[in-house]
Amino acid sequence: MEGIKALNLAICGSNPILGTMKILKGIRRRFWSKVNKKCESGCWEWMGAIRNGYGCMKINKKTVDVHRLSWIIFHKNIPESLWILHRCDNRKCVNPSHLFLGTHSDNMQDMCSKGRHYFQRNPSSARKNSICKLRKNEIIQIRKLYKINKYTLKELGQIFHVSFTNVSQIVNFKTWKEIR
Ligand SMILES: [Zn+2]
Repeated sequence: MEGIKALNLAICGSNPILGTMKILKGIRRRFWSKVNKKCESGCWEWMGAIRNGYGCMKINKKTVDVHRLSWIIFHKNIPESLWILHRCDNRKCVNPSHLFLGTHSDNMQDMCSKGRHYFQRNPSSARKNSICKLRKNEIIQIRKLYKINKYTLKELGQIFHVSFTNVSQIVNFKTWKEIR
């Protein structure tokens, strides 16, 4: 039960969940049974229920957004007060490589045309290890998260999809010095 409670909190609220979370087997099974990985776009489309354009699923009588659930399944947690946003602009998509962390204001921007234009200019949308594609707020976020001593450089690299070396250079202000 504890596991489910923590999971509910993490997925439903925009609120703090730091630390590792166990995703119960049954939830994973239900999740995967409704994901279609065969889209040409590379999106993993949610075939289940939809709420506000986003895929959703009931867990313990609560409706949760499945793109957030996907993030937790792949990355274990959602750093405090961050949102999970779509690179691909497809709200039904749960492909972890199409998702990224952002702030609430990023989310607002994303909903306006700015976000959409960004993706049109970067159609491949895969960042690989290229640090130049990190956004300014991500640099700030990486430094913040490193400062609270909860994440190793390696974990931060995994969360933001950049290399260990890149993260190390960012937190030591060897790169992106102009961003404070
Ligand atoms: Zn997608």
